[in-house]
Amino acid sequence: MNMNVEYRHESGFKCFLQKMTNKRVAVMYDVNTKPYALEFMRELQENGAATVAVYYPDEELVPSEDKCEYAYQTAQGTDYVLAVGSGTLNDMAKSVSTRLGIACGVLATAASMDGYCSKGAALMRGGVKVTDEVHTPEDILIDLEIVRNAPKIMTAAGFGDIIGKYTCLMDWKLANAVKGESIHQEAFAMMEQARTAVVEAFEGLTKYESEAIAKLMRALIVAGTSMAICGNSRPASGSEHHQSHFLEMDFVRRGEKIPMHGLKVAIGTLVSIELYNYLKDNQVVFEGAEKVYEFVAELPSVEEVRAMLVQMGCPVRFSEIGVREETMREMLAKAYTVRDRYTVLTLIHELGLTESITPLIMAKYY
Ligand SMILES: [Zn+2]
Repeated sequence: MNMNVEYRHESGFKCFLQKMTNKRVAVMYDVNTKPYALEFMRELQENGAATVAVYYPDEELVPSEDKCEYAYQTAQGTDYVLAVGSGTLNDMAKSVSTRLGIACGVLATAASMDGYCSKGAALMRGGVKVTDEVHTPEDILIDLEIVRNAPKIMTAAGFGDIIGKYTCLMDWKLANAVKGESIHQEAFAMMEQARTAVVEAFEGLTKYESEAIAKLMRALIVAGTSMAICGNSRPASGSEHHQSHFLEMDFVRRGEKIPMHGLKVAIGTLVSIELYNYLKDNQVVFEGAEKVYEFVAELPSVEEVRAMLVQMGCPVRFSEIGVREETMREMLAKAYTVRDRYTVLTLIHELGLTESITPLIMAKYY
């Protein structure tokens, strides 16, 4: 993967600015990221680039066909699409630039999710959420002054997404122990190290210190690169993400506002740790159980994880983010079907334990 990750404090984005000299750059932004976009467009112009503004006066931009079409039309004849934003704008830029057959990049404005360099773009089509396969950004530009001043809930969501790597990597080890699924050691180690660095920087993160925010941002990017080298999303997405996906589909079906990805993942992580503990505490017997219980002992406790999430301002019950009670019950029973991937949710289902764990999980996480 040939990706340029550049930090303002290290290089002043010199490499990117040089690359854009004599190029026409479509810059996509919304009302929230407008100040950063305008400033950066000036900088691009000073460095010999021509800029075309693709502006959305929306506070909560929905990546619908007409919004994408506007970008597609406006960016015609340009050489590059740069998103100034995070999840939605980045996904739209990836999609539009793929259609136009030109490269794209992002000036990241928040450490809010792990999709910066993923090959998927979550868009809305005919009122339905779709995930299109798109190309990845060539450049990820990070100005820590911008990222650390993002709304705190966005940083909390990014932290939640990384905390989710505890259970996603645990699920991988589970699948290995129970089903013999192979582990891509390099991808696994990359993700694990990046997650550990974030947890070790937790104190700094609660104060939004640049160095800690940089570690969070790095881990969010590593999630993408680890998936790329592995060839699938196993290194960054397990049972906690499947819960999030299940809930998301329900929000979309109801036409309701979807809570931020990382917030759903964070609560899903608590649920998954709880499930692992339930199995271990009850010494439930299944193939490979002994090995699995050794791994479970290495997981942080739910209390530890919950305390960190609370300190970051992250919700810790699904009711807090607008999930319906019946939807959460349904999620516990069916989230394992969201992807064809073995996780603790699959195991709970196979063992016929769904019914017995539901009241326990509902009491603690609804
Ligand atoms: Zn994620």
